[in-house]
Amino acid sequence: MNNFEYKQATDAIDATDAVAASEDAMFIAGGTNLVDLWKYNLVHPKLLVDINHLHNHKHITELENGGLRLGALVTNADTAYHPLVEERYPLLSKAILAGASPQIRNMATNGGNLLQRTRCYYFYDPDVPCNKREPGSGCPAMEGYNRIHAILGASDQCIAVFPSDMCVALAALGAVVNVSGNNGERSIPFTDFHRLPGDAPDIDNHLHHGDLITSIDLPVRGFAQNYSYLKLRDRHSYAFALVSVATALELDGGIIRDARLALGGVAHKPWRMHEAESVLIGRTADEATFAAAAEVILADAKGFKYNNFKIELARRAIIRNGMMALNPETQLPGAQPSA
Ligand code: SF4
Repeated sequence: MNNFEYKQATDAIDATDAVAASEDAMFIAGGTNLVDLWKYNLVHPKLLVDINHLHNHKHITELENGGLRLGALVTNADTAYHPLVEERYPLLSKAILAGASPQIRNMATNGGNLLQRTRCYYFYDPDVPCNKREPGSGCPAMEGYNRIHAILGASDQCIAVFPSDMCVALAALGAVVNVSGNNGERSIPFTDFHRLPGDAPDIDNHLHHGDLITSIDLPVRGFAQNYSYLKLRDRHSYAFALVSVATALELDGGIIRDARLALGGVAHKPWRMHEAESVLIGRTADEATFAAAAEVILADAKGFKYNNFKIELARRAIIRNGMMALNPETQLPGAQPSA
């Protein structure tokens, strides 16, 4: 039996104060990952602070600069189907709908999506060591079954990947995460929000205990004309990505004027690499150009016994998705050719 206290927060300050006051306190919103973690005995909150009544954070609003603010408590489903998201940020809409199931997307919140934990099988098995669960205990995935694990940015402590689809699109679009904490409010560029495992794989992101994500800002440019999200997985729905790619292009005739490229399922965080985007800019949008970008992204890729295939899969996915981004018709539902 896990005994715990429950508190309904009245506003963001009330929520952050309550969690910051106790190391054993946690926020709960949709709960779609927290309840999993609790059932697996991986978290043991003594106090749950319910933030579902913070109505200020349940809206999607236009920003004065022309961008869009996604409230942290808006569900993933409401975000994906919001008319302004569909019209101006279809890459984000498509990435969200590639994730989870309709039931989970109806419960899961935008803030929670950023905070989900890895799906490494060893992490969820308390009978085996895991550096992410118990620092210093070891990483059985290194020599074990590592089919779903990282090929980029891993450390000798952890080779887990971050599982979100939504976050791959947010990284590509250059979103900003707004946070409220004990020291006030601050904004974190999306690509700086999550961290690589290094020698502290138990820490997934740069939040402090008690920090509350309040919203996510999208910049003005949504790349709504030429974009694609390609997710490759072991089954067609309700599975995490082996490799996913978010591509967004601004074209002038057949020439790429601006480009965004981010990968999911390959690292401890959404993997965006400006050097690879630079390779695309000013070049003809064709397979050779996307192959050149793939070469840059994957130059330091390292596979393990069961996931070596991901390196070639990622290369093909980057090329395929680049070509799909050229043709809006490939963005129709179900248009997900395999790499
Ligand atoms: Fe744990 Fe990371 Fe190793 Fe998985 S890869 S067993 S999460 S340390």
